[in-house]
Formats: sequence, C-alpha cells, structure tokens
Amino acid sequence: MKSYVELVTVPSRDNNSTLLMLHFDEKRYVFGQVAEGTQRMLGQNMVKMNRISDIFLSGKTEWSSTGGLTGLLLTMGDAKAIRDLERQQQLERKQAKYAVANPDGSMSNPYPPPPEPKGLTIHGGKNILSTMATTRNFVFRENSGINFHEYDFLEGSVVFKDDFVTIRPLRAFPRQGSSTMTVEENRLREIEDIDLGSREQLKNIVDAMWNGQPGSLQVGKDDEDYVISLVTRLKEDEQRQRNEKAGSSALPNKDHDRDIESESPPKRLKLNSDQAKGDKEPSWDGILEASETGRPIPEFSASRPLRRPWPATYTRSLPGTIPSTSALSYMISIAQVRGRFRPDIAKKLGVKPGPDFRILTDGGSVTLEDGTIIHSTQCLDPPRLVNGIAFLDIPDENFLESTIEEINVWKEERKNNKENYAVSLWVWAVGPNIETNKRLLDYIDTLDGQHMINSPTSPFQDMSLKDSAAQATRLNLLDNENFPLPCPGYSHPSDVPEPEPTDKDRILRARDSLLIDVHPTQGVQLAKLRPRFDYSLVQREVKTKFGDGRYWRAAKAAHEKIAKEAAQRDPTPSAADEVELVTLGTGSSMPSKYRNVSATAVTVPGFGNILLDCGESTLNQLRRSYGQEKTADFLKNMKILYISHLHADHHLGTIAVLKAWFLRMVDTSEDISKLYLIAPSKFLNFLEEYTQIENYGLRHINFISCDSLLVASQQHPDNKKREDSQRIEELLSALPLEKIETSRAVHCRGSFTVAFTFKQPTGFKLAYSGDTRPTNGFVEIGKDCTVLLHEATFDDELRDEALAKRHCTTSEAIQAGKDMGAKNLLLTHFSQRYPKLPNIRRQSSNGDDPLCDPFMETSEERESTYIPRTKDIKVSEKRHDGPIVSKPDDENAMHIGFAFDMMRVKVKDFWKLESFIPALEELFKQEEKLDDEVSEPNENLSKGQSQDKNKKGKKKEGPTPPQPTSKRQQDKLAKKLQRRGPPQSSN
Ligand SMILES: [Zn+2]
Repeated sequence: MKSYVELVTVPSRDNNSTLLMLHFDEKRYVFGQVAEGTQRMLGQNMVKMNRISDIFLSGKTEWSSTGGLTGLLLTMGDAKAIRDLERQQQLERKQAKYAVANPDGSMSNPYPPPPEPKGLTIHGGKNILSTMATTRNFVFRENSGINFHEYDFLEGSVVFKDDFVTIRPLRAFPRQGSSTMTVEENRLREIEDIDLGSREQLKNIVDAMWNGQPGSLQVGKDDEDYVISLVTRLKEDEQRQRNEKAGSSALPNKDHDRDIESESPPKRLKLNSDQAKGDKEPSWDGILEASETGRPIPEFSASRPLRRPWPATYTRSLPGTIPSTSALSYMISIAQVRGRFRPDIAKKLGVKPGPDFRILTDGGSVTLEDGTIIHSTQCLDPPRLVNGIAFLDIPDENFLESTIEEINVWKEERKNNKENYAVSLWVWAVGPNIETNKRLLDYIDTLDGQHMINSPTSPFQDMSLKDSAAQATRLNLLDNENFPLPCPGYSHPSDVPEPEPTDKDRILRARDSLLIDVHPTQGVQLAKLRPRFDYSLVQREVKTKFGDGRYWRAAKAAHEKIAKEAAQRDPTPSAADEVELVTLGTGSSMPSKYRNVSATAVTVPGFGNILLDCGESTLNQLRRSYGQEKTADFLKNMKILYISHLHADHHLGTIAVLKAWFLRMVDTSEDISKLYLIAPSKFLNFLEEYTQIENYGLRHINFISCDSLLVASQQHPDNKKREDSQRIEELLSALPLEKIETSRAVHCRGSFTVAFTFKQPTGFKLAYSGDTRPTNGFVEIGKDCTVLLHEATFDDELRDEALAKRHCTTSEAIQAGKDMGAKNLLLTHFSQRYPKLPNIRRQSSNGDDPLCDPFMETSEERESTYIPRTKDIKVSEKRHDGPIVSKPDDENAMHIGFAFDMMRVKVKDFWKLESFIPALEELFKQEEKLDDEVSEPNENLSKGQSQDKNKKGKKKEGPTPPQPTSKRQQDKLAKKLQRRGPPQSSN
C-alpha cells in the first residue's frame, strides 16, 4: 500500500495555515487548518477533493482554522451531488442498454445500483459542532453525506482506525491562556463543560443542515403548514420538469428553485420565467384536491411565502458553550505494508509461474497438484515497518510544553504496545515566532525523522495563488495605479536568494503543492519544487510570448490613447475625485483561480473606509492589495462594513475581518467604538452566537440592520427599532454622511441594495446593488450617484439564467446606471463561468456594440421582474437612444468599467477604464491559450515516477498526478453553485 503526502497549503503571502493531504489510491485524509481561502488554494494546486474521506482539524477551534470549512464543504457537497447525478444517469443508460428480457416477459438487469459512495467526516475538537451550527441560517444541503465528529476524550480511546491508517489525536492545553490557569485547570474546565444532551442536540442540527430534507421535518400540524408543504412540492416538481424540458440541468439539491417558491407569489412566478410563458394558470393555484389524504385543501393565499423553512433553522438558539482552549495534533501511522513477493521461494516450493503467482502476491493461497497448500506468507518477505507521520499544531508558545508532554505520553504508549515504527515526517504547524523557539528546536533534536516547521512569521514566504498573482502582474502593464502589483513588499526572488535550511537533511522547507514520498525504509523523498513566484518572469513572458507581444503593444496603445485624451480633458478638480474603490473580490458563487468572492473596499478621504460585502478570504485579499501594514491601517480607518445579503459568497469573510479589526484596535488602545456593521437583521444572530466560541470584539461593533435603513422605515420613525435609529443618528452625526438608504433587492429573502450620500463638500454618492434583478427602489435611492457598483453576473445571452437565479445581465446593470443617472459605473460579481473577462463584445455579430444597445427586452418584460411598485415611487421609463459608452467629447456620459480582483480606481480616473478594453481582450485571449496548455498534468518528479510505473502495467500505486477538474465539470459546478444557500424563510 503506497502512500504519499501533499502539502495543500503552507503559510505564505496568501495564507496563514497549514493543510496536509495523505494520499492512498482509494482514499485521502486531510490534516490541519481549513482556513479561509482553502478551497481556492485547492483549485490553484489542482487538488482533487472527491476521494477525501476524513478531515482532521488541528489546533484550536477558532475561525482561523475553521473559517474555510463552510465554503469548502458547500463546494464538496455540490460536487458530490453532481457526481451522484452522473452516476445515476450512467447507470440508467447502462441498464436501458443491457437489460435482458426474461422468458416470463420481465426484465432482468445486469447492472444493479452500485453501493452508496462513502461520506465525508470532519473530526474536530471542542466546539466544532457549535461552530457549524451557527451557520444554520445560511447552509442547507440535502444528502451531502457530510458528518461531523467532535472529540470529547471521555472514553479511553479516541483512536481512528481503518484499513489504511491509525490516527491518534493529541490534545494540548495552554500553560496559561488569557487567564493564569494551568494546563491541568484548563483540561478540567473543558471536561466540565461537556454536556452530552447539548451535544446530541447540536449533532441533530448540524445533521439536518447537511443531510436534511426540507419537507421531512414535522412541525405545526395545522392546515396552513400542510398546504404550504404540499404546494411547495408540487411546484418543485413542476419547475424540475420545466427545467428538464428546457434542457437546463435538473440537479438534486436545487435550492434556487426553492428560493423561487419562497418568495414569489404564484402569479409572479409565471412571469419570472420565459419557459413559463404561455403555460396555463398553474394547477395548484387555488383550491386543490389532495389525492394523498383525501383532505380538502383550503384556499391558498397567493402572496404567502411558499417554501417551508429548512429544518435546522427551527432551532432559535443554540445550547451555550465556552471558548475551547485545547489544540489538537495528530499522530498518524500508516497501516502495515505487506512484504515483497519472492518468486524464487515460490518456485522452490513448487508453485508454477503464472496465475498462481498473482494469487500469492495478493495474499491468497494456492493448492499444488499434490494437494499441498502454499500460503502467501510462505513466499513473502516479512512485513515492512509501519510508517508514521506527525502533524503538530502549536497555536502559540503557551501550548508548546503541553504538546511536548503529549508526544512523550504517546511515545510511552507506543513502547508499551510494542509498536516500533518510525515517524519519518514531522510537520510542525506553529504560531507566530515559534519557529525559532529554542525549546522546540532542542526537542526536535531528540526526535528521529525529518521535520518541517511551518510558521506565518517565517521570513521566507512565497505567493501561493500564483495564477492570480500572474494575472495581476500582466494587468499591471496596463496601468500601474489601476492595476498594482500583488502583495506589496513581496521580496523579489532575484533580490533575496532562497535561504538554505540550517540542517539540510532534517529540516525541510515548506512549499505548497509539495509532494512528499514517505517511504518506510528510504525515508522522505521530495518531489520537484515549483519555482517561486517571480514578477519579472511574468513580465518577460508578456513581451515575448503573449501573441508575439500583441498584448504588450495593445497595452502601449491604451497608454497613448489615455495620454491624448487626458490632454483634452477639463482639469477642474471635483471634491469626490480622490475617492478610491478597490475591488477585492469580483466573482460570484465560489472563489476561482482569478476571481475571489464579493468584496469591495471604498476609501473616502476625510471620512474613512467602507467595505461592501465580505466574502470568504476578504482579509487575505486586503493583504494582497494593501500589504500587511497598510491592511492594518485600512482596518483602523474602517467605518462601515456593509453586508448586502446572507449568501455565503457575500459574508463568510466577516468574522476574520472583524477579528483583525478588533486585534488592531486592542493593539493601539484607541477608542474602539467606531465601526458600524450594516447587515440584514438575521446576520446578527449568527454573529452573536459565534461570540460564544471566540471573542472577536462584537460588543465593540455597532450593528444597524439593513431593514431599519429602508427608505420607508426612515420616513416612519415609529416603526423603527429604537436602538437602530439611535445608532443611525449617531453614525450620521459622527461621520460626514448625509444619509444611508437601503431598498429591497430582488434576490433572496432579506437582500438589500444601498446608497451612501456624503455631506458637502464631497457630495460623493455611492450606490451598491448587492445581488439583485433590476429594481425601481434601487434606481430611486441611487439617483445621480457618483459611483454605481453593480453586479453583472451574466452575459446578456444568459438572460434566462439571470432571471432564474435573480441576478442581472450586463445590459440590465448598464440600464440601471442610466436610469439612475450614475456618473460612473463599475460592473462586478461576474459568473465564474467567465473566470477572467466577462463577455464584452461577443454579441456584436450584427454589427451592434451591445454596450450601445442595452435594450435586450421590452420595457414591459423588464417591469415584470421589478418588485411591485409602491405608488410613491416613479419608474423611469425614458428610453436612452444614444450610446452609453463614454466618448472623449462627452464628459458627462456614464463611464463604465469592468472590475478585476485587486483593481483600484479613483473617481477621477474612471474615464480611463474604457481605453483598456482592447488590450484586455487581447490579454484574455492569450491567457485562455495558456490555461489550456498548463491544464495538462505538470511534470514533476514524483508524479512522473508514478506515470512510468503505470506504463509498466504494474498495479497502480504511488503518487498519481492530480487531474484538473474537467471544463465540463467546472462549468456544471459553477452553474450549480449559483444556487448556494440562501437564508431561510421561516419568518
Ligand atoms: Zn446572492
């Protein structure tokens, strides 16, 4: 049984965590911290996730080691749903093809359904169940096969054992945590806090989140509930059939379908989809006969939400808990390896070469002609040494002594059990500055095997997201200010030679995507390392390779055009000129190689910073954009953090950003009551629950719900929550803000659009769409804004999808900008189906530039998707016949730009963005080619070896090259993930 170790993430400029994957042919085990950004790193390193059977979380149960879990599991759950569906379809095809008719007329089938694939288990320390349960309002997956196991260390043995590995968790406690408690006191405290009843309850909640059935939980037996569930089911079936007919994917787990049920009254549902056009009134709208029970169904109110809440959301409050102080590490032993087959011995025993040899090699026995039975053990070498790997997580120096003690206890145990295997690889995932701790280094000296020390403060740090960094470097050729180089302060490899490890043979340098062959007798063998990221290499490549330098020349042409236009422009400065937007994450649904999920930083001179949405890994994106130090400054001056809605791609980075803000404030001991968090009210439940697990400074944050900023509720002060209204007044008076208005978005329940208006002299006005269909309300609050940041998830040709998933197309976003009279429009939140550039001009086959013709539909159609209008809001019905795209001679036209990750643009520079488009098109043409080339498995020592072996026809073993997910698969996944869990709709 051959195995190898892959380092999925190591501390780098992009990431602070260590994650290791242990590969066997059939199975994968993951150890370490699943920090924010993990799934993006998996994608970058082309690590296949589908064979992971267990994830062993290390360290403390805190956001820094669990923050990437929800996003990763949602993706894995969705990938499984796709595989399940494909498997089912394949089976059906085979069954149909090979079914045999029996004499009696029945059909017999040679293809029985395969056994259910095994699920995925997450093993973690205290509070892992509580952590997952706090996300119950925005996570729901049916049948994901994902389970959670929280270690309690109550029973004597917590050892995990299967055919491949034996895993023994170690639990260390701090010598003194925040208090002056001893290791023993901390241990006792954690044991005392275990409440089996609460844990059972948490387990049920988490199970319902990941493996629930929306209709299966029985609550409220009244007729209304019954009708709602029945109607929902009927509607879902109908929608599914319709989708199938229309050729769109009919995957299980379709929560966006459920979304439609949840909020749209039946009459509007009909209008919501082109496919529904011409359909007669749905049969469930009105009085129904329930054939199942014979019970008459009362009249159904068309305006009521149809979807039943997800089961886990019935739990209003979670059982209490205290923060965990323990940190988990793991001793991993790889199962015994059978000895080598000895043909010479077999021959001597009288076995003839041929099939019998094979049987013996596989561990069977054969019977000779004379009746003698030969067992495999007679002709195999003795079993080889069992091999071990250690994964030690030491969050800070307080844990060091206790971890060493735990290792010593384990050593003793091993001696008593007479397990004399060697631990050939020790991976130390340590907190800041522990890599140089003398006690640790001395202890390492007493241990055999090879060691790797991974620390976020190690002086040598690479960039891990190399593709994203390369793209930013190429964009940098267009403009140094709008497209800065990633990771300011990153030391150039040619400037700083890679330091040699102190003890070359024993201490290994950590690198992500490093493969390590952990061989019982030969020790650790490293595969070839990927070169460090190097700006100048990328730049050279652009000049020589990219379309024979065509992109290089296009970039120069853009420069010249801008210089020429600049000379003609009116130089009168305006007060809002210096306002700057940095688009930190510009992709939708799930992070991809080139685009992270939603977040935009806005810096308003004289005011401070606003962060608009905060998808997973936003803190990392801030660091990539601003560098470590300036990120701290950004956080210090952050005045408003705004969350538009509770889809995972818009808020999973919040805890990390708030904690970094909090630590920064504690650090400087400045007044810390000045950050306002504006979010849908439900978000506060999550934040409050999570404070039980970890203190991230919530009590210093002023929460204002988006609901209380609705124009209507501001006009009727009686209806406002008093606390919120006080805070709003406080916020407006403390900051040079004239008003903040929200308006309901047409997307999921509790989603909002927003507009910030600043006091004079800036007079700057910023409008942000969040995710939405076009709405009148947003046009109203965004009137005459200086900058409109608008989602444009889909190309115009995918309008059906935009309707179904309630997003905007490019043209619809542009139209919204025109309706508002916006001066500058920045388009963002692009579907990950276009990982790099949205379709700018693809539709110009008829000679029309789509940017000049945003009317892809009649105004009636457009209206039908608007939220029902209130009488006092007027819709702008005027047609805009002129070109939208700004012309140099028309400085009043709306300037339009397309956002890229880490792009920054000042208000005064918006007009430049359009000049970049021809060069951008050239760039992405070339990048696409490049991607096709590198999606071949990369040549790599270890991987190469395994390919050779496979060629020889040997049983497949050893490192297998990770295969890139196929384009089709990615596309499917992207499609699927558009439906990422919306918030529930219980009230
Ligand atoms: Zn959304």
